[in-house]
Amino acid sequence: MHILDGKVLSAQVEAEIKQRVDKMLAKGQVPGLEVILVGEDPASQLYVGNKEKACARLGLFSKTVRLPENTTQEKLEEAIREANENPAVHGVLVQMPLPGHLDANRAIELILPDKDADGFHNVNFGKLLRGEPGPVACTPQGVMYMLKASGIDVTGMDAVVVGRSNIVGKPMAVLLMHQNATVTICHSKTRNLAAHTRRADILVAAIGKPKFITADMVKKGAVIVDVGMNRVDGKFCGDVDFEHVKEKANWISPVPGGVGRMTIAMLMTNTVNAAEKAFG
Ligand code: NDP
Repeated sequence: MHILDGKVLSAQVEAEIKQRVDKMLAKGQVPGLEVILVGEDPASQLYVGNKEKACARLGLFSKTVRLPENTTQEKLEEAIREANENPAVHGVLVQMPLPGHLDANRAIELILPDKDADGFHNVNFGKLLRGEPGPVACTPQGVMYMLKASGIDVTGMDAVVVGRSNIVGKPMAVLLMHQNATVTICHSKTRNLAAHTRRADILVAAIGKPKFITADMVKKGAVIVDVGMNRVDGKFCGDVDFEHVKEKANWISPVPGGVGRMTIAMLMTNTVNAAEKAFG
C-alpha cells in the first residue's frame, strides 16, 4: 500500500510556485489573492487562515475582506466589484458556503473569469468541459496532480466518483475523463452504490460523510482518493474508513495530510497563473 501524500506533493508544488513568484518579485511584480469571507463559520475561518498563510509563505500579496453574517447581496457584490477593479489582486475567491440568504451563483458570476481563482465561473467551467485552458477548480486539480506525480496513469481505468457537486464531483469526473479514464458518477440517488464502487480501479469519495466508504465497498488494489473533510469530535476525518480500506488499496490518500493540502497549493497555482497572464 502506498500513500498519496499531500504533505510531500503540496510542498513540491509550492517549491515550483515559489520559483515563479521569486522571478516576478525580482521584476517588481507581486501576485495577489483576495478572499471574501462572509460570517463566522469556524471551518471557513480555518480555510481562509490557511490560504493567508500559504500566500505569506510564497510571497503573494493577500487580502481578506470579512463581511458580517447578515451582509446583503449588494454589499457582497460591491466587494467583488472592488476586487475585480483592484490591480493588485489577480485571484479572487468568495469562500463557500455563503449564508443561505445570499445568492452564491450570482456572486461567482460577478467575478471576472480571468481572476476566478477557484475556477467556478460558468466561463471557466465551460472551458473545462471543452478541454480548453483556464483556471480549474482547485480540489479536483490537486487530485490530478497527486495522481500524475505518483506515476498513476488513469488511461483506460474504471473511475468512480462519488459526489456530483459543482466544486468537486463534476469537475473531478471531467478531468478524469480528459485523462482517458472511463468515468461513472454516483450520488445519493444511485442504486446499489457498492456495486459501482467495487469495480472502481480508481475511486474518488467526495460525499461529506465520515468513513462512509468501507473496506467491503472497494476493489483490491484500487487507487482511493478521499476528498472528504469531516469534523468528528474536534478531529478531521475523511469519507473513507482509512484504517480498514488501506489494507485493500494499492494507493490511498489520508485525511488530514491528503487532498486538502493540494487544494491550497492549486489555489496558489491558479493565482500565480492569473498574475503572470495579467503582467504579460
Ligand atoms: P456536497 O454536499 O456539495 O456534495 C456531496 C455529494 O455527495 C452530493 O453529490 C451527494 O449526492 C453525494 N452524496 C451524499 N450522500 C450520499 C450517499 N449516501 N451516497 C452517495 N452519494 C451521496 O459536498 P462537496 O462536493 O462540496 O464536498 C464533499 C466533501 O469534500 C465534503 O466533506 C467537503 O468538506 C469536502 N471538501 C474537501 C475539500 C478539500 O480541500 N479537501 C474541498 C471541498 C470539499 P446528491 O447530489 O444526490 O445530493
